[in-house]
Amino acid sequence: MDDCIFCKIVNEEIPTKFEWNDNEVVAFDDINPIAPVHIVIIPKRHIESLKEVKKEDVELLGKIQKIASELAGKKGIKDAFRVLTASGKGAGQTVFHLHYHLIGGWKDKAPEMEAGKDEQESE
Ligand code: 5GP
Ligand code: ZN
Repeated sequence: MDDCIFCKIVNEEIPTKFEWNDNEVVAFDDINPIAPVHIVIIPKRHIESLKEVKKEDVELLGKIQKIASELAGKKGIKDAFRVLTASGKGAGQTVFHLHYHLIGGWKDKAPEMEAGKDEQESE
């Protein structure tokens, strides 16, 4: 996709240091990290989000999770990490090329996953 920033990263139009690079998947540091370790893992093929995933992509998704685990090991966070993806604008997706955030490296423990919980409770 011409105007997709992650496709540009895949095609090396934007110079990026890859933490992972094989025939189907690349991973690189997030430009705006939300944790001490924050890596973005993406398929090279442009898929908009999890919503657009097809049956033939299932193996690729499994592979990405395995890569997340391997990168967690490489980054020294294998005992405490999260893998997250947002699907759709309403869920906070800002780049519409499927990607997984691998985050970790917190000093003591991970922050609670409570975003939006209070709003729901007060409704
Ligand atoms: P989303 O908000 O869609 O779940 O995640 C998109 C992520 O991509 C954000 O965390 C954002 O910081 C990251 N990002 C956006 N543009 C770039 C870029 O040009 N380079 C890198 N390394 N990360 C980017
Ligand atoms: Zn793309």
